[in-house]
Amino acid sequence: MSSLYLTEIEKAYGDGRDAALMAKAGEIIKSGGLVAIPTETVYGLAGDALNPLSSKKIYAAKGRPSDNPLIVHIAELEALKPIVKDIPEKAKLLAKKFWPGPLTMIFNKDKRVPAETTGGLDTVAVRMPVNKIALNFIKASGGYIAAPSANASGRPSCTNASHVYEDLNGKIPLIIDGGDVGIGLESTIVDMTGEIPVLLRPGFISHARLEEIIGRVLIDPNVNGAELEEGTKPKAPGMKYKHYAPKGELFIVRGGEQGSIERINSECRAHALKGEASAVICMDAEVEKYTADVVSSLGNTYEDAARNLFRCLREMDEKNIEYMYIRAFEDEGLGMAIMNRLIRAAGHKVIEV
Ligand code: AMP
Ligand code: MG
Repeated sequence: MSSLYLTEIEKAYGDGRDAALMAKAGEIIKSGGLVAIPTETVYGLAGDALNPLSSKKIYAAKGRPSDNPLIVHIAELEALKPIVKDIPEKAKLLAKKFWPGPLTMIFNKDKRVPAETTGGLDTVAVRMPVNKIALNFIKASGGYIAAPSANASGRPSCTNASHVYEDLNGKIPLIIDGGDVGIGLESTIVDMTGEIPVLLRPGFISHARLEEIIGRVLIDPNVNGAELEEGTKPKAPGMKYKHYAPKGELFIVRGGEQGSIERINSECRAHALKGEASAVICMDAEVEKYTADVVSSLGNTYEDAARNLFRCLREMDEKNIEYMYIRAFEDEGLGMAIMNRLIRAAGHKVIEV
């Protein structure tokens, strides 16, 4: 797609100072246009969820395959009923506990939601974000916003406005800049349409926290690791595509600490001998243990790692890194969400030590 817009970036604060900006953004949405917005998870590319033409524009701007459904964002609980067939009791409990917040639930859709928004599915994904700017924006825009992550399809998601500009400059009229996001990974997605809810995408709200509220929650086999068999359809269609990927090759190294570190260092030495640029992504405590062209820390905690991961992958592109190594995270809690993104960013390349 060629450049169509002079893309503006405007600062927002989540309070009364944004009034004029919210009115302007709301007008763009109501007339079928797109606006990129901050949320607490990652930046979203927003359009009117009930306007099929807006959804088509979202797919075009992102370069996203049109069978990959969008998440509908609402700003108040009363907005849920008109767009779904029914609200299961367990969904009410989760909404009460986690909305507004980084949880997306899948419902059977009402016919008001166009097929263009749901990638042709009879179900609709719905979330109520907690970010004040996002909430005010949704209200100013008519109440129903389709907003997938604001990255170009396949690239790491955007955790600040300048990442959005990198990917969408010229393709949309307006980016609302709310600073760095707090969480850094996309929302947890749970399918509520069956007898037992199914976790389709792990996020900040962990499997254990969901089970505390509603009892048993299944984990979709596609969540971590399992590569899809030829011809099978994943429940969250977005999960089948190469995703979050930097330009270089990323390898996940799984095994004991000492052995993993030695293996990574020897891989990086071999790259250096061939004149190839390599990098290690690790936690603060391990920085000194690696020798590579770039050693980049994600911070001290899993929360830090979640918040910094996508920015770090984008920086690897800027530094023209050809090979990247990262040790596997523990596959539970927030670690499950981080591993879910890493596995895809690495195109399933895992080195067992
Ligand atoms: P993104 O907006 O980039 O976070 O992507 C939205 C994710 O939600 C994709 O992985 C979709 O496959 C998933 N999703 C959206 N709607 C549905 C739905 N109706 N059923 C299952 N997954 C969905
Ligand atoms: Mg995405």
